[in-house]
Amino acid sequence: MQPFVYNALPARVIFGHGTISQVSTEIHNLGCSKALILTSPGQIKAGQTLQASLGPELAVGLFSKAILHTPVDVTEEAVQLAQTLAADCVVALGGGSTIGLGKAIALRTDLPQIVIPTTYAGSEATAVLGQTQDGIKTTQKSMKVLPEVIIYDVDLTLGLSLRTTITSGINAIAHAVEALYAAEANPITDLLAEQGIERLARALPILSKDPQNKDARSDALYGAWACSVCAGTVGFALHHKLCHAIGGTFNLSHADTHTVLLPHTVAYNAPFTNPAMVKVVRNLGIPEGVSAARGIYDLAKNNGAPYALKDIGMKEEDLERAVDVALKNPYPNPAPLEREKMLALLRDAYEGRRPA
Ligand code: NAD
Repeated sequence: MQPFVYNALPARVIFGHGTISQVSTEIHNLGCSKALILTSPGQIKAGQTLQASLGPELAVGLFSKAILHTPVDVTEEAVQLAQTLAADCVVALGGGSTIGLGKAIALRTDLPQIVIPTTYAGSEATAVLGQTQDGIKTTQKSMKVLPEVIIYDVDLTLGLSLRTTITSGINAIAHAVEALYAAEANPITDLLAEQGIERLARALPILSKDPQNKDARSDALYGAWACSVCAGTVGFALHHKLCHAIGGTFNLSHADTHTVLLPHTVAYNAPFTNPAMVKVVRNLGIPEGVSAARGIYDLAKNNGAPYALKDIGMKEEDLERAVDVALKNPYPNPAPLEREKMLALLRDAYEGRRPA
């Protein structure tokens, strides 16, 4: 076996149905009593329900302006509110945008976080925070932003739209795929990555026909956690770099961007990552002879997800700039990063061509 280093991040994870009822206990366990609840504008009702169930003894307020890519001005407004209310913890209820806001508040205030993920984006188990200011998204790693408690409540994911279910599920798969060929890959994250891909690849086609299927929702959410741990434990490569560059610079949906790009970044790296590709293929449940890149492309397209950059708001004239941004501070990557090849990758993704 290859020598390896494995750095586990501390985490308390509660997984099940109806687990949102445990938020009050978790607030007490943290020694807190003044929670500021965070949601996106679309999930304000869920936030109000949680606030009502906690009562004024435990919840001091609700901030419901979390949006994609964690803009710094929104964070500053939330920090101001947390300070005015003398909040002693945050409870982030929502997808990666809301969890990102909780992390950004924690970075500035050291407030402990309870996070209740309702998509499969997987920010909850990472010490990574991406923030956007003046159209530029920068990413940093800090233990200050790692949530103290993750509560997965499968029931809260039943209402997730079909599109976000599939795209966010493929966002999770992207964490696992890159973990399998990351510079810090190790046998433990390999296991989690394989399990995460297998659960999501099995669940997504079921959910595209039957979004209320609780077993499939449970598989998808568990898979998202496994993939999130991978993302939190090892580093990223070209795929995440391109997604951050494109999503942040051109304000595209994070999950859509991951979904469209993953088949193409996998194809780019495939000649240099054969053992990882074998693991991806065997967990996607695809017919023999189909490549990992094509398997992921088909998973998106066959389940109604977008598969072309031109369909998710990207402009053709911005492709060159996207490559330049991605090349500025590149992550280590198995295949050499060559500008012309990366541009060809983006052109294929722009048109939505099925990769090799
Ligand atoms: P999101 O959080 O913006 O959610 C997408 C939409 O779905 C929102 O309108 C939200 O209100 C709605 N929604 C979420 N859950 C729902 C539910 N269960 N039912 C109904 N509606 C629901 O999108 P996302 O893809 O989850 O997260 C993207 C953000 O997360 C980006 O800013 C990205 O950078 C960040 N992210 C960070 C990391 C990390 O490790 N730092 C990892 C993954 C994603």
